[in-house]
Amino acid sequence: MEKGTEIDGYTRICGLIGNPVEHTMSPAIHNTLAREQGMNLAYVPFRVSPEQVEAAVRGAFALNLLGVNVTVPYKSQVMPFLEEIDPLARQIGAVNTLVRGERGFKGYNTDMPGLYRAMCEDGVDLRGESVLILGAGGAARAVAMLAAQKGAGEIVLLNRTEEKARKLAAEVNGAAGRNAARAMALGDYPKLPSQKQFLAIQTTNVGMFPKTEESLIEDDAFYRRVHTGYDLIFNPAQTKFMSLVEKGGGRAFNGLKMLLYQGIIAYELWTGRQVDGRQAEKAYGEMKNAMGI
Ligand code: NAP
Repeated sequence: MEKGTEIDGYTRICGLIGNPVEHTMSPAIHNTLAREQGMNLAYVPFRVSPEQVEAAVRGAFALNLLGVNVTVPYKSQVMPFLEEIDPLARQIGAVNTLVRGERGFKGYNTDMPGLYRAMCEDGVDLRGESVLILGAGGAARAVAMLAAQKGAGEIVLLNRTEEKARKLAAEVNGAAGRNAARAMALGDYPKLPSQKQFLAIQTTNVGMFPKTEESLIEDDAFYRRVHTGYDLIFNPAQTKFMSLVEKGGGRAFNGLKMLLYQGIIAYELWTGRQVDGRQAEKAYGEMKNAMGI
């Protein structure tokens, strides 16, 4: 057996806790990276029921797991059971990566740095940009904090529940120390200043498999105002939102690279090793294979 794939007495385990976890692409990312780097590491998903979250975190530490990813719906719920929380994760209010410390895990958020790496690779610069965020949930929060931190000129949060967008805008402005973000009700998008072109980031579940024919906004006039669109959804790989952005003349990207890089950053935190471009490409290919695309 190839080095890095054989389970023996030295094998270190990393895993994912969430509910459900069966659909995850993370094993394809981490097991490929481990194999490519000759690391004796195996990554497995663990389905955890809501009343067992604390037991799962403490148990994972007791079992000497090297690292843990956390997914929906536990990204905030795990926080009280950690030894330490990275300031960025604290600001976002969600943790997706647990790294071993002396007496417990330290929590990080690699979703936001993952999206940032993907944007850098795609040549998208947030500085001075007019950013339109569709949604105001957990993912929108990370994206809005990223945009504010990287110097976006303005951030507009469009959400079905306007109150949630308003609350998030206030939190982002508080964290950034400037009035960068403002909220709008979803139906008010025609009131966006007509002379502006936006970088639009779609962070809702709308359009996700199996409801692939849906998009939060269907109006062509809206998409003519979008020069670049990111959909954080990665299944399907081409969402209706992306097709509408392209039809309007903009560039469109899905959430696959964000997913890849949040995994790579977690792997680097756990192992202390850097992932090079060739290894990242290999993991990306295996991830796409696992998704059948
Ligand atoms: P969340 O906290 O539950 O937030 C969901 C958001 O979607 C809310 O703003 C909600 O609006 C809106 N929404 C849901 N259904 C809607 C509908 N039918 N019409 C209008 N708005 C609707 O979820 P999340 O954790 O932010 O995750 C959102 C998406 O991001 C998921 O698709 C997830 O796969 C993706 N994601 C991708 C990555 C990646 O690595 N690519 C990482 C994280 C998340 P209300 O406030 O009005 O309810």
